[in-house]
Amino acid sequence: MSDAAKKPIKLGKKDFESDQDVRWCPGCGDYAILATVQRALAQIGVKRESTVFVSGIGCSSRFPYYMNTYGFHSIHGRAPAIASGLKIARPELDVWVITGDGDGLSIGGNHLLHALRRNMDLKILLFNNQIYGLTKGQYSPTSAIGTRAASTPVGSVDYPVAPATIALGAGATFVARVADTDAKTMLGILERAYQHKGSVFIEILQNCPVFNDGIWDTVKDDPTGHQMHLAEGKPLRFGENGKHGIKLDAEMRPHVVEVGDGPGLTPESELLVHKEQGSTAYAFLLASLMQPDFPVPVGVLHRDPKPSYEQMAIQQVADAKAKQGEGDLEKLLYSGMVWEVGADGVKH
Ligand code: SF4
Repeated sequence: MSDAAKKPIKLGKKDFESDQDVRWCPGCGDYAILATVQRALAQIGVKRESTVFVSGIGCSSRFPYYMNTYGFHSIHGRAPAIASGLKIARPELDVWVITGDGDGLSIGGNHLLHALRRNMDLKILLFNNQIYGLTKGQYSPTSAIGTRAASTPVGSVDYPVAPATIALGAGATFVARVADTDAKTMLGILERAYQHKGSVFIEILQNCPVFNDGIWDTVKDDPTGHQMHLAEGKPLRFGENGKHGIKLDAEMRPHVVEVGDGPGLTPESELLVHKEQGSTAYAFLLASLMQPDFPVPVGVLHRDPKPSYEQMAIQQVADAKAKQGEGDLEKLLYSGMVWEVGADGVKH
């Protein structure tokens, strides 16, 4: 074999594009996410034949069709369960899960919770557009209170959930948030998520121009005002020239303050400092900060490197084999309490 033939082929973004027509509405935020994921996989240098995208049901769940990798458009809310089975059976594969706020947090809330709790090595991307898009605009678990939709003509009365708080509560070991059109931040997060061996949860703030247009405009269109980019070891500052910051009061409540050394200003030394491996309580506080009272934190909120489920399960099987030898299924099936039912219907 020649040297040229042995050299691994460097794939580009186009190599991750499938030949399927992309069928999202014009202007949907999903296009930007798809393009950035394809770029990220090319930059990371993954193998297409080792990459699988599993989705549930919803607009976001059409994602696997558009990736030139393996994929599975599965059943409503069950993508984390199917992906968990795949990962434990084929741990060498990179398994990504694509879901939305309805699919992942309502119908599939239970499955999402347990995949995160087990610390399965899955990269879960939740597109949060605060609405059910595919079924024509019903309010979802993340819709703001008062959302007028087909199913709530005079406004919803449900309190919405903040997806990242659910992920942290369930025990996800890599939690991040980013807006759909912020390709630079998303690329960085996806590369780091890929390196993380454990349950990854990335909330992507996604615009649905048809049923919930502009809900994230304040986060996206004014990067100096309504989003707070997190940086390890740096104080929580935001706004033009970082003039505002986040400080805790004596009762552990966060407050927005103006930063400076003059009268009525708060010195930078009194602000919260970002630590990805800080306490879960700190991460939960970050995940709970929401507009309009607070800026929306963007970046890696929390990281906790610890062994993943499949690593521990594989080790457990290897240890058992080392101690007891290879198993014998037939022997196992005929061991313990075994009986036959005779023609007379009696156990023998
Ligand atoms: Fe995108 Fe909304 Fe159209 Fe679904 S309904 S494809 S989320 S714009």
